[in-house]
Amino acid sequence: MGAANRETDDATRWRVTEWDAIPGLIHGFLGRADGLGPGAFDLAAIRDRLITAGEAPRVVLAARQVHGADIVSPEDPAWSQLDWHDGAERLPVADALVSASADVILTIRTADCVPILLVAPAPHAVAAVHAGWRGLLAGVVERSVAALADRYGARPDVVQAAVGPAICGTCYEFGAEPQREFVSRYGAEAESAWRPGASSNRGYLDVRRLATIALVRAGLDAGAVRLVGPCTAEHPAALHSYRRDGAGAGRQLSYIGWRGDE
Ligand SMILES: [Zn+2]
Repeated sequence: MGAANRETDDATRWRVTEWDAIPGLIHGFLGRADGLGPGAFDLAAIRDRLITAGEAPRVVLAARQVHGADIVSPEDPAWSQLDWHDGAERLPVADALVSASADVILTIRTADCVPILLVAPAPHAVAAVHAGWRGLLAGVVERSVAALADRYGARPDVVQAAVGPAICGTCYEFGAEPQREFVSRYGAEAESAWRPGASSNRGYLDVRRLATIALVRAGLDAGAVRLVGPCTAEHPAALHSYRRDGAGAGRQLSYIGWRGDE
């Protein structure tokens, strides 16, 4: 998995070039250079990074991420209470954001967890999902795909996914206990995301593989799931990694939305 998109390992930002054909869509996975530091942040800081990346967002949505499976949308009341200088503590608690609104950019922050961007070209709907192993076990991927269908009528088989930079199955050493939960949630296929370690209670988790399994089980076509960007832990100049940098790790931003009518 670490070899995915090897030609882009030296990049500072990643995107899906095939998505350029989707009218009005804006998206990207930003690297360390456009990321947030380890401390507090507010929506204005996130907006600044997006402007640096060449976007011109009128509205930016971020959530207080808790490794859960709740979903928030700019169409929800929780969002209308916020303004630019609201910090993390004021943001709605959610690990996935969905939208069909023009001129709104959804953002998530990660340092090893999997950032997933979803788009349904028609009907116009997008999602940004923070999917670490806890969120995957909580069903954040399935709930996000279901939200696109329930809220906007975007059936899973028209949804496309980009699975962004995250820690790879070589670097992510892990206790064996959650692996049993992965298999009970996703079936025997989840075994393919796990490699035993030197002792019986340790191993290595390929969390992007697990996210891909979750997306396909949620109803996406396997060919509609793309891996984008390299392993976070192996690229210190390009990407933040919590496993590598510990509590001092910053966060990279991933974003998706629809351009406003101009
Ligand atoms: Zn790695």
